[in-house]
Amino acid sequence: MNAYKFSREKLWCEAETRGKFPRWAVLFCHAMAEISRADLAAMNVAIEEARAAAERGEVPVGAAIAFDDRIVARAGNRTIGDCDPTAHAEIVALREAAHAIGNYRLTGATIYVTIEPCAMCAGAMIQARIARLLYGADDPKGGAVRSCFSIFEHPALNHRVEVHAGVLEEESRLLLRNFFAARR
Ligand code: ZN
Repeated sequence: MNAYKFSREKLWCEAETRGKFPRWAVLFCHAMAEISRADLAAMNVAIEEARAAAERGEVPVGAAIAFDDRIVARAGNRTIGDCDPTAHAEIVALREAAHAIGNYRLTGATIYVTIEPCAMCAGAMIQARIARLLYGADDPKGGAVRSCFSIFEHPALNHRVEVHAGVLEEESRLLLRNFFAARR
């Protein structure tokens, strides 16, 4: 039996689609979730990018970057295709976003990633002054938000990134799991 794992965005979606809860309860869930409908849409874009990366034979991680709910960049992992160890989805998306807005500082931007960022990508988010990070599944082997390191919480840093973990977590994790299962 699959244990139902409580997840704020799942509760949110189910409350809306199934009409099981009264309107006030739905609004309460939205407020508690601290993530918007636009956030979930952008997270789905990141998942699409992860899926596309898998089809190219890359480890399926995807990212998207938005300003005021408008997506300015989206990318999947390209390390093999570009023969570039730094071509993680987040780095590719950060570069694309900076070019799109003509500024290397992405102050006020939100980044959406399917998997917990590594130390390099978390560092790049600080350099870019990203305001918010939403990600899907934790990465116990390299995650730098809370799994292996807690880079954003280092007291020496002036810049603070607001983090929401576990957004569309199952979808994000399944993409990775299926990818590696198929290669075994
Ligand atoms: Zn990375």
